[in-house]
Amino acid sequence: MAITDHVDFNGFMEGVKRRNPYQPEFVQAVQEVAEDIFDFMEDKEEYHAQQILRRISEPDRVVSFRVCWEDDAGNIRVQRGWRVQNNNAIGPYKGGIRFHPSVTESVLKFLAFEQTFKNALTGLPMGGGKGGSNFNPKGKSVREIMRFCQSFMTELYRHIGADVDVPAGDIGVGGREIGFMFGQYKRITNQFTGVLTGKGLEYGGSLIRPEATGYGAVYFLAEMLATRDDGLVGKTAVVSGSGNVATHAAEKITQLGGKVVTLSDSGGFIHDPDGITQEKIDWVKAHKTHRRGRIQDYCEEFENASFHPGKTPWGVPCDVALPCATQNELLGEDARTLVANGCMAVSEGANMPTDLDGVHVFKAARLLYAPGKAANAGGVAVSGLEMSQNSERRAWKEEELQQMLKDIMAGIHERCMTYGRQDGGYCDYVKGANIAGFKKVADAMLAFGVV
Ligand code: NDP
Repeated sequence: MAITDHVDFNGFMEGVKRRNPYQPEFVQAVQEVAEDIFDFMEDKEEYHAQQILRRISEPDRVVSFRVCWEDDAGNIRVQRGWRVQNNNAIGPYKGGIRFHPSVTESVLKFLAFEQTFKNALTGLPMGGGKGGSNFNPKGKSVREIMRFCQSFMTELYRHIGADVDVPAGDIGVGGREIGFMFGQYKRITNQFTGVLTGKGLEYGGSLIRPEATGYGAVYFLAEMLATRDDGLVGKTAVVSGSGNVATHAAEKITQLGGKVVTLSDSGGFIHDPDGITQEKIDWVKAHKTHRRGRIQDYCEEFENASFHPGKTPWGVPCDVALPCATQNELLGEDARTLVANGCMAVSEGANMPTDLDGVHVFKAARLLYAPGKAANAGGVAVSGLEMSQNSERRAWKEEELQQMLKDIMAGIHERCMTYGRQDGGYCDYVKGANIAGFKKVADAMLAFGVV
């Protein structure tokens, strides 16, 4: 009898766990996708015969390397760097770089796996990858960060390229770090190519790239609400995080008439019942990004706000919730609280912020729930547009890009609806996103034969 991946779901997951010991985040991400894909694949013999699910859950390659750098006191420091090139069936590998002490191979494999389906969902020709280091930028001087970025790129450069693998930013990597890494790439290779996205406007960056992930998550939220003839005007929103994604999500909610009442960081969350206005968001951006401050300082600046140390904001009653900080920040019990408090929609700005228990709670409650791979795809989509602009050697106007971002988010919403629509008009966006993303990548893999 031929060997196929015609095993049951439990058998498949047992294999994933056995092959990836001590990689809980990666196993979790595969399970979330496999839960939906198994039903979809049931009658698709070719996928089984070609072992597509087994192949898609094995990264093309994982590169791990040492990153040495010297701190301001003259000490030699050693970090670990990685690039996970997950799948390039539909385009060059594409995905961010994360600098955070919690970074492990498991975290980057989960992110690269998610990225593969997310990028497919955008409709743009981009494969999936992710990279990073366990380097902690907090408390480091700008010179130290520059030296680290240069050392990181001194190894990474040989694995990437404008048609090979195009990294971008993520947690701990913003425009400044991209600048340092691009400068080093250019110095080593003597080539000016679109090898990174999220670049500064002066050297090939795209307008609205910094805003795109947060804005996109809110556009997706608006699309979901529109299916119930509703909108953001007058809605109370709970947002977690206070970095790039969170602040831009808060900004767009405010612009569309909603009221944001929380933001957070790894120290806890602030609750501002008066609403976090544009002026306050601007203060948070400057405080967190430029001054590298803590969110708790918000309460000294704006009266009526309170700080809740060590807590996440999901207990604050709201109409809509946007987790925009990090993975597994919204657990099953938080999901139950949100549902009990009458929350009607959740749009994930972060990657996999809801744990599997929470995902099951949202699905069972049939609320409007958009997984990160659909809702936060606006960032990588505009990165894809940055690649196009670099290839064309021109820069598109802001209005054009805003419209393209909106259209792309509407297109992702439509693709999710195609495969996620259930009885009674309810859409299972997790299922829709998983199947639509999987199908595109899987069909491309079938075309290539066994490679
Ligand atoms: P930033 O570094 O700009 O901000 C991250 C925010 O999350 C900070 O407020 C940080 O708090 C908080 N945070 C990080 N780790 C933890 C933790 N373990 N517990 C609690 N809070 C934490 O990152 P981004 O805004 O760019 O990224 C946020 C999320 O969005 C990530 O999941 C990322 O993968 C995802 N994403 C980002 C995209 C982008 O374009 N930037 C694209 C698509 C997804 P503190 O300051 O205390 O560390």
